[in-house]
Amino acid sequence: MSGLQPPRGTHDLIGETMRRHHHVVETARRVLRTYGFEEWSTPIFEDTRVFSRTLGETSDVVSKEMYTFEDRGGESITLRPEGTAAICRALVTNGLTQSLPQKVFYHGPMFRYERPQKGRYRQFHQIGAELIGAESPLRDAETIAMAQDILRELGLGDHVTLELNTLGDLASRQAWREALVAYFRDHADALSEESRVRLEANPLRILDSKSEQDRKMLDNAPAFADYLNDDSRQFWDGLRSSLQAFGVDFVENPRIVRGLDYYSHTAFEFVTSKLGAQGTVLAGGRYEGLVEQMGGPAIPAIGWAGGIERLAMLLDSVPELPAGIALVPMGDEAVLKAASIARALRSAGLRAEIETRGNMKKRMERVVKSGASHAIVLGDEEIAKNVVQLRDLSSREQQEVPVADLVRVLSAGRA
Ligand code: ATP
Ligand code: MG
Repeated sequence: MSGLQPPRGTHDLIGETMRRHHHVVETARRVLRTYGFEEWSTPIFEDTRVFSRTLGETSDVVSKEMYTFEDRGGESITLRPEGTAAICRALVTNGLTQSLPQKVFYHGPMFRYERPQKGRYRQFHQIGAELIGAESPLRDAETIAMAQDILRELGLGDHVTLELNTLGDLASRQAWREALVAYFRDHADALSEESRVRLEANPLRILDSKSEQDRKMLDNAPAFADYLNDDSRQFWDGLRSSLQAFGVDFVENPRIVRGLDYYSHTAFEFVTSKLGAQGTVLAGGRYEGLVEQMGGPAIPAIGWAGGIERLAMLLDSVPELPAGIALVPMGDEAVLKAASIARALRSAGLRAEIETRGNMKKRMERVVKSGASHAIVLGDEEIAKNVVQLRDLSSREQQEVPVADLVRVLSAGRA
């Protein structure tokens, strides 16, 4: 049998890839804490209805991307394609709907059956945040500022642009939708064949059409901005002035619509030109009906999710492991002594590894290659005096150090 491969669209996180991934999560975690967000972790599979009920039957995710199967007990299970619906399910399940607001963040694998390409996988990872119980546009702005802080801390501040749009409230969207459908009907002859089918099933999808013919006609279609009612307009103004107050720059882009049904008012994406077609690194918006659909009360919320792989690819520098200290014991007794010294160094927070294979020369070659900062050499003579030979591998200086002083000497150099 030939070597087994990972399933298409999945990848192993190993070495530098894992370090990049980890750096994204750690950085986000640090920033999220300064905003008072707490980490939640929900199962990676859920009752299929958690997603099918909420994301919208016609959304790309539900209509063609979900990993859904029946388990051995006959339940329909779905590997989570996104985090928001699951967090809202957990809010209700855990009886937290009266303890608002809840400021939650999560990270972990998501699953979508997509055509794999650079920046697009079948198992990928997201880090996300949800502020549940968010009444005013100030909270939307704050949550967006938090995302921007994370991107800045990752060193991506200059690589990404915030694009912002409003989807208005349901009434505004309905008024616009009616005008739009009427416009499409009047111009049905000018539509592409594919869009004529959409006209019956899901007319708003026509807006995403890539056909030249459709695009020409869309130029004169009713603009959503003209259908915002007073409440929606007020929210939109409030959002933009709050973002200014937080010092967050943005560009307005009426084409940001979000693929899922549950969004209203705020929609935004942080985009980069550096990843080709997969340019959105973090995206989110306001949603109002989701908690209710999970069996709770109607609670408005604002949230976002960032693609960890896409963020990790953009990082300029990759954090390294701290340089280690190599213990090089010569002789059986020295190995045992090295074990106890290694334990003490590690307790002091230092990285220590014991090198036992081969002759002295081979060992020192390996130690230098490993990038260690120091080598601790000990044999019978050192054991008798309760000392070690401490060699600084960059200056090549060597000194005899009493075992009892080792932690102090080594920690001093690292403060
Ligand atoms: P796209 O338009 O790229 O398909 P989306 O609208 O489906 O994105 P969201 O559901 O908003 O994406 O997910 C938030 C983020 O998660 C995206 O901006 C992206 O960075 C990342 N992401 C989404 N799908 C994938 C995937 N298949 N592989 C890698 N990252 C992904
Ligand atoms: Mg998608």
